[in-house]
Amino acid sequence: MIIDCHVHFAGIDGVGGYISRKFKWSPSFLMMRHFTGHLFKKIDTQAVLNHLLETLNRAEKVDRAVFLALDEVYDAEGNPSAQGTHLHAANDFVAGLARDHEKVLFGASVNPNRKDALDELDRVAEMGAVLVKWLPSAQGIDCADTRFVPFYRKLADLGLPLLPHVGAEHTIPVAWGRRDMKDLNHPARLELPLDQGVKVVAAHCCLPVFWWDPNHSAEFLSLMLSYRNLYADVSAMTLPSGFRARTIKRMVGEFPPDRLLFGSDYPIPVNPSLRGWKGEQRERIKRAKAVANPMDRNLELLLAMGFSEQMFATTRQVLRLPAEPAPAEA
Ligand SMILES: [Zn+2]
Repeated sequence: MIIDCHVHFAGIDGVGGYISRKFKWSPSFLMMRHFTGHLFKKIDTQAVLNHLLETLNRAEKVDRAVFLALDEVYDAEGNPSAQGTHLHAANDFVAGLARDHEKVLFGASVNPNRKDALDELDRVAEMGAVLVKWLPSAQGIDCADTRFVPFYRKLADLGLPLLPHVGAEHTIPVAWGRRDMKDLNHPARLELPLDQGVKVVAAHCCLPVFWWDPNHSAEFLSLMLSYRNLYADVSAMTLPSGFRARTIKRMVGEFPPDRLLFGSDYPIPVNPSLRGWKGEQRERIKRAKAVANPMDRNLELLLAMGFSEQMFATTRQVLRLPAEPAPAEA
C-alpha cells in the first residue's frame, strides 16, 4: 500500500477551518488555484474537498493520503488567536473525512502552546491520528522550548510521529506577521523532541526552494546521521523551481534511503523544472511530467529523479497506522 503522508486540506469559509485575507490573496494561494484549475471558479471548503477527494480517488498508484489538519496560533495564555492565524484546518473535520473516506488518513495538528495541549493530543490519538503536523513559523511554535517536554514524551508514548516543516517556507504566511517567526523553522530546534525519543519527520528534507533561501541542508544531513529517530519526507520536491531541481539532483543520493517518507505537499504545484537533468534520466522525468493525476505524477517524478522505492515501506512503518486485522487461521 502506497501512502502519501503530506496532503493539505484547507477550510476556506469557516467550514472545517478558515484562511486569512492575507493568505487568500497571496501569490502562493493564487498559484495553487491556477494549477488546480480553480483560478476563476468559486472557491469554498466544498470545492477544496471535492478537488482533493477526486484527485485521490482517481489516483492509480497512490492508495492512501494523509490529509493534514493545521491548528491555530495560540496566545501567551494558551487561547486561540484568529488574528495571528493564516490557515486553520480543524482536527474534528479532518478526522471526520478520514472516517467517511476509505483512502483518507487523519493527520492531526496540536499546537503545544494551547492550554489543553496534552488532552488534545490524547483526543486526536483516539480519533485515529497517524501523525501530528506542525508548521512552526505559521503556528508560532518553538520546537526547542523546554516547556514542551511533557508534550514530546506523550507523543513518544503514543507512538505518534511529528511532521514539522523545516527550512524555507513560501506558502503560509508567518504567525502574527512577525518576520522573526521564520527562525522557528531551523532544523537545530528539532534536537529537543529527538532527545525525548519522538519520531520526527522533517518535511521537504529541509531543502531550499530558491537560491536566496537560507540553506541548512548540510546541518540537517549531519543531524540525520546523529539521530536514528530523525526521518524526512520528500514532499514538494516537484515544485517549479530550477534551483530546487538542481539541488535535488546533487543531493538525492546523500540522504539515508531508509529514512525517507513519501509525500507530495499537494495541492502545491507538481510541475518540476528540467534544469540540470540530462540524457535518459531527463527523458524519464519528462515522461513522468505527462502523467495526468498530480498525486501519481508526483510519485513517478520522485522515482525518475532517483528516490528509492524504499520510501513507501518506511512511510508505512513510521506512521501510526491502525493494526491490520490478524489473518484468519487456516
Ligand atoms: Zn506542507
